[in-house]
Amino acid sequence: MSHATGTLYIVSAPSGAGKTSLVKSLLEQTENLHVSVSHTTRAMRPGEADGVNYHFTSRERFMELVGHGDFLEHAEVFGNLYGTSQSTVENTLAEGHDLILEIDWQGAQQVRHKLPQAHSIFILPPSQSALRERLTQRGQDAGEVIDKRMAEAVAEMSHYVEFDSLVINDDFTTALDDLKAILRAKHLQTSSQQSRHTRLLQALLSD
Ligand code: 5GP
Repeated sequence: MSHATGTLYIVSAPSGAGKTSLVKSLLEQTENLHVSVSHTTRAMRPGEADGVNYHFTSRERFMELVGHGDFLEHAEVFGNLYGTSQSTVENTLAEGHDLILEIDWQGAQQVRHKLPQAHSIFILPPSQSALRERLTQRGQDAGEVIDKRMAEAVAEMSHYVEFDSLVINDDFTTALDDLKAILRAKHLQTSSQQSRHTRLLQALLSD
């Protein structure tokens, strides 16, 4: 049995980089990996469910939770509030599960500050034109809506340098393999292996 605490991953990306699909596949193909369900004040989109995609919350309730210090991090993104439950993160890691936070660069900064051992990953599109194409395919939005989203994406991407790992999502399978490689390498780090294989390491060094 493992007594190691889990590893915390932060995954950020501009909208349209393919983060959600990549994380979904990563979760399906990785043992012991969970994703944190954030609180948000934004309206539910078709196909979303409360407690699955997000905990959908009123602004009043959200501010109450902020007041109680319930969030590990919280930020306003495109006019809506988003936050990560501190207790969920603590409990999941204490149980030995690895955990992904899908949050924006502002939240990533806050988590890095509080939990410097977290490993942060930024997912990038292969080009501006590919990003524009992906943002356009999402709906029948007007050109100026797309322009606004592009500007927001560029602003988000300007923070790439703050992250530990960069993954370029050109080919989906390659990007997924890259994410798996990052997780595997993290798993094999000495500090991580030490807490997992305490007995073996002791036995190997005994006379
Ligand atoms: P969406 O509303 O499209 O699901 O997400 C919009 C943005 O909010 C994305 O960049 C997403 O990563 C970010 N986001 C989602 N949950 C959280 C959270 O708990 N904290 C922070 N800081 N950002 C979040």
